[in-house]
Amino acid sequence: MDDDIKKAIRGIALLNASEHGGKTRNDAIIPKVVGFKPDLRNKIKELIPAISEIVAEVNTIPLSTQKSELESNFPELLVVKPKQDRTGLPPLEGAEQGKVVTRFPPEPNGYPHIGHAKAAIIDEEYAKMYGGKLIFRFDDTNPENERLEYYAAIKVGLDWLGIKYDQIKNTSDDIELIYKKAEEFIQSGYAYVCTCSKETISKNRREMTDCKCRAGDLSQNTKRWKDMFGKYKQGDAIVRYRGDMHSENTVMRDPTLLRIIDEPHPIHKSKYRVWPNYDFAVAIEDSIDGITHAFRTKEYELRNDLYYEILDKLKMRKPKVLEFARLEFDGMPVSKRILKPLVQEGKVSGYDDPRLPTLEAMRRRGIVPEAIRKFVLSLSFTKSDTLAPFDTLESFNRKIIDSTSIRLFMVTDPVKLIVKNNNVEKIEISNHPQKDMGKRNLQIDGSFYVSGDDAKSLKSGDEIRLLELYNARITKTGSEIEAEITDNKFKSEIPKIQWVPVRNAVKIEVLIPKILFVNEQFNENSLEIKQALVEPYYLELNVGAEIQFVRNGYCRKDSANQVIYTHK
Ligand code: ATP
Ligand code: MG
Repeated sequence: MDDDIKKAIRGIALLNASEHGGKTRNDAIIPKVVGFKPDLRNKIKELIPAISEIVAEVNTIPLSTQKSELESNFPELLVVKPKQDRTGLPPLEGAEQGKVVTRFPPEPNGYPHIGHAKAAIIDEEYAKMYGGKLIFRFDDTNPENERLEYYAAIKVGLDWLGIKYDQIKNTSDDIELIYKKAEEFIQSGYAYVCTCSKETISKNRREMTDCKCRAGDLSQNTKRWKDMFGKYKQGDAIVRYRGDMHSENTVMRDPTLLRIIDEPHPIHKSKYRVWPNYDFAVAIEDSIDGITHAFRTKEYELRNDLYYEILDKLKMRKPKVLEFARLEFDGMPVSKRILKPLVQEGKVSGYDDPRLPTLEAMRRRGIVPEAIRKFVLSLSFTKSDTLAPFDTLESFNRKIIDSTSIRLFMVTDPVKLIVKNNNVEKIEISNHPQKDMGKRNLQIDGSFYVSGDDAKSLKSGDEIRLLELYNARITKTGSEIEAEITDNKFKSEIPKIQWVPVRNAVKIEVLIPKILFVNEQFNENSLEIKQALVEPYYLELNVGAEIQFVRNGYCRKDSANQVIYTHK
């Protein structure tokens, strides 16, 4: 057996012994030996005598000597590796294995963004962690804001993220049941129909005074409830919870439970006009869906009392409501109030503009779902709002796409460089330095484009390396540079420059997204568009291909002649 293997076994034995009071055993280290050198798996029988011998020997050494030998001969074994796949999520309060049910409840009123990704990933991870279920539920009870297009976009976004849900449903499909609960409330006096004006209602809420409708009897409320489905016009009447007009928590001052909305619903069209508001719908839905742990962002915290009271009074099962922080990127707001005008005024090209934090934009830009998941799970699980720098997501993304990005040459602000004594006609370049991603051929004739930035720094007499090709000495500078081949040796000190053959360079545009808002102001220079020349092999790549332009950064092919800059 070779000495390397013996040495490795000794290291593993020492480490195991030092972690277990100075004693180790064959069966404790065999799996580790195989883990260390998987090709030993089939030879483990032959190794057993050696392992036994080393184990016996290590067990005779005192613990302190084991430790010092480890430190001096096997320092690499003592480096604590961060645990892979650590989700960073704390255990869930009151969670029982196999019995956790979470839900992701978006309103189909906009495009999904990084904040939704956070919510959906946490909901899914917890369901997974406890062998439970995730329900994907569209909370679609406000037809004024909702559109079929948004249901579709949210579903596409979630599928792209790789979120696996066990059930998908719409709150609006349960509307008849929600009506029943409303009637139960009215019957039992927990709710009343209020016909006061909006102004009166807000004034009374501020001043903690009852309005006259609060005193209405059952027959008045039952009649008014009926009329909400016919006679009343939108805004004429609402169902209010009989809360506490003196509560410190303003949410409890007789909040709205249902209202009239005449806008046709994207799914049910004009079949219904009375719609529950958020608090009433969410509490009932969470309860009937069997949700055990209902997450929402912390600005909903004040609504928790109402949530629990509604279920209490309806004698329905209560899920546990939990909060987490809203997530958004610094300078990249997620709020519809801010994004919608940008799209409407044409300041960005649409909801998939690569400057935006929408999932569609991030996909186009070349951010991969796995990076988003790792990023989300790396955030500490706190309630304080998270303003994360986009860089953090970038560094997760870079680690992942580096191994799948094809290396290509690109030049910007091109300057011609002519190698007078070129003697190469064709070269073959690997598409990736480590991975087997194939090779490409390039026709060479001595005429190249190099980047303006590189050209600027060259002086006559300088030696450069044209990457993958040869070294050359500059003989003339100016609008067209000339050079002569010197040799092909590796020289660490000379500039290494990428190039594109003049005769078949391909013109593309590079879209470079920059920070969207600086000090809350829209950054008019948030999108830079650069003209570039690339190798003809670019044309053979599919849209969606990830590319690392050597010395430039990572990009994703967005169309035949356009790439989006992902990050450095
Ligand atoms: P909006 O005001 O834009 O409608 P919302 O919170 O009402 O925002 P929903 O579509 O109802 O958006 O959200 C679905 C889920 O995603 C909810 O659980 C919500 O708490 C969560 N969520 C929304 N935005 C964020 C965010 N920025 N960070 C974390 N979670 C979010
Ligand atoms: Mg919403």
